[in-house]
Amino acid sequence: MRELIEEIRNCKRCALHKTRRNPVPGEGSLSAQLMLVGEAPGYWEDVRGRPFVGAAGKLLNELLSAIGLSRGEVYIANILKCRPPGNRDPLPEEVDACTPFLDRQVELISPRVVVTLGRHSTSYFFSKAGLEFRRMADVHGKVYKIEVLGVSFSLIPTFHPASALYNPKYRGMIEEDLHVVEDLLRREGIL
Ligand code: URA
Repeated sequence: MRELIEEIRNCKRCALHKTRRNPVPGEGSLSAQLMLVGEAPGYWEDVRGRPFVGAAGKLLNELLSAIGLSRGEVYIANILKCRPPGNRDPLPEEVDACTPFLDRQVELISPRVVVTLGRHSTSYFFSKAGLEFRRMADVHGKVYKIEVLGVSFSLIPTFHPASALYNPKYRGMIEEDLHVVEDLLRREGIL
């Protein structure tokens, strides 16, 4: 993981390296059984070089602690490691350039459960697993047993915490989805 982080710090595979302040490789426990995957760094993540440290991150911390987990026990990563200017959506060529890093993180952590936060990370894992993805509304809170890169895990998509900052109805849905995660972790003896 140390080597991988160094590679990410030196990465110039796409144009985002020109506008980033800091790359955001990801962080957490290397023996985490639960991995969370977001979209891309925002303003504060770019400033601090750490994932989910802005307003969405504060909410994510609260949502995790509601199911008895702290950030140090999980691993948090993103589809893109560098901030897209103005927080625009990732471009397909940026996703192609950057996701080999995420793939290596999945191989290194080898999680039992992956929670995708929002449509970008959900559609990435669905496509890797050969599943069709249309909309978050159809898939959130469901458990998909998949094998990706030789790692078998349960994938549980939920909405991006930032969506709950704009529309409070999403907060309740993310909370419900995380209870599905909690139940699964308990059944598997992880919690
Ligand atoms: N949103 C994300 O998707 N990732 C972060 O790290 C922060 C905000």
